[in-house]
Amino acid sequence: MNTPGRGLAVLRILLLVLLLSCMAGHAAWAGTIVRDLPPGLQIPAAAQPGPGFDADQATAAYLAQLSPEQRKLSDQYFEGGYWVQLWELLWTVGACVLLLLSGISRRMSEWSQRIGRRRWIGTPIYIAQFLIALFVLELPLSIYTDYLREQQYRLTEQAFGGWMRDQLVALGVNTVFGAVVLTAIYAAIRRSGARWWVWATGLTYVFLMIFLLIGPVYVEPLFNAYKPLPEGPTREAVLSLARANQVPTDHVEWFDASKQTTRLSANVAGFLGTTRIALNDNLLNKSSLPEIKAVLGHEMGHFVLNHTVKEPILLCLTVGLAFALLHLCMDRALGRWGGRLKLGDRADPAALPLAFALVSVIFFLLTPVQNSIIRSYEAEADAFGLNAAREPHGWAMAALRLSTYRKMEPGPVEEFVFYDHPSGYHRIHAAMVWLKENQAMVRASEAAQNEQAPGTAP
Ligand SMILES: [Zn+2]
Repeated sequence: MNTPGRGLAVLRILLLVLLLSCMAGHAAWAGTIVRDLPPGLQIPAAAQPGPGFDADQATAAYLAQLSPEQRKLSDQYFEGGYWVQLWELLWTVGACVLLLLSGISRRMSEWSQRIGRRRWIGTPIYIAQFLIALFVLELPLSIYTDYLREQQYRLTEQAFGGWMRDQLVALGVNTVFGAVVLTAIYAAIRRSGARWWVWATGLTYVFLMIFLLIGPVYVEPLFNAYKPLPEGPTREAVLSLARANQVPTDHVEWFDASKQTTRLSANVAGFLGTTRIALNDNLLNKSSLPEIKAVLGHEMGHFVLNHTVKEPILLCLTVGLAFALLHLCMDRALGRWGGRLKLGDRADPAALPLAFALVSVIFFLLTPVQNSIIRSYEAEADAFGLNAAREPHGWAMAALRLSTYRKMEPGPVEEFVFYDHPSGYHRIHAAMVWLKENQAMVRASEAAQNEQAPGTAP
């Protein structure tokens, strides 16, 4: 078989696999079950504070609020996600192999060299073409994983046109940003020889920090409208939590995430004068004030504990490890296949699909390490949020609502490998342990609220 034919065969196999998994997904779909829990705080009897309070029983009582169907769909969606990660890897590798074997990558490289004779023009032109080609080749799979599958599980109500528009905007941002970052990395590869991966790791950290700085201000508004949160008890509660926990801002916004997803979320982003707190409309509309306070306590934890600076350092260490492994694999791969594919050395941008395929496999293998780094920071923010918001039932209820897309009770190995946040079980259990240790304070604040209530009512 000639090389383009072999590339097409790879694509055909991947399409067949996708079709089969789509069919399997449709067959498993369970019909018209309501996925969201009813609005408001629902505290089970076994989770009420009292002399015989037991954190394990209280946790079990919270989990029992999900119907068997809701639990089944939660598990099914999340476990299916494990396979999605594998299919995405195989698909990406297949697309890169196709670009190399068909000669498309080589032709894109020659064309970009003709247009931009200087490297700093030719290289980003080639990279932009590669990223767009990869987007097109991966589109059938992303339509299934990110659109059809989300619809199947009622995690989105977005029309296909709106989804596609968001994909194209993301492609535009990724192409511009990716071309800048990879051009800088290729400059490091040309100049620093075998040490290129050290420079590439440092550049990744710098660009990541730049993206975290400009993302909330310039990128996120491309997808959603951000508006000031109107005056009222929610805004006042969020600002009070911010003042009490040294989050220096009175900038509270809400955004219309419900057009893309049914998931709850919030964040505290920005540095210095740009710090702002944002809540999505799902959180505002589906949950009670104690839940909102608990979620914002967690988000403020990320800010106060400087996770936006510390977490990327640890993550970039894994990027450094990945680049070091890529360095070892890439020279060997080029030695073996470079001549046949008419590729130059590692500084030849036309070899990018080969590097991309290899680094995708490496990052796939590093997934448990990266997940564990992120999960440990999330657990830290969880603990901060419980102490800051003092809303254990709000936190337990919010954790229960996240069951629409995250399995509640995984095994220990499963949680280590696949979870980038603590599981719902661990979050609710942590909230119930906190409640057990702070029962006197919770009862005193409930009594104070009950005393206040008749006076504040008109
Ligand atoms: Zn978090």
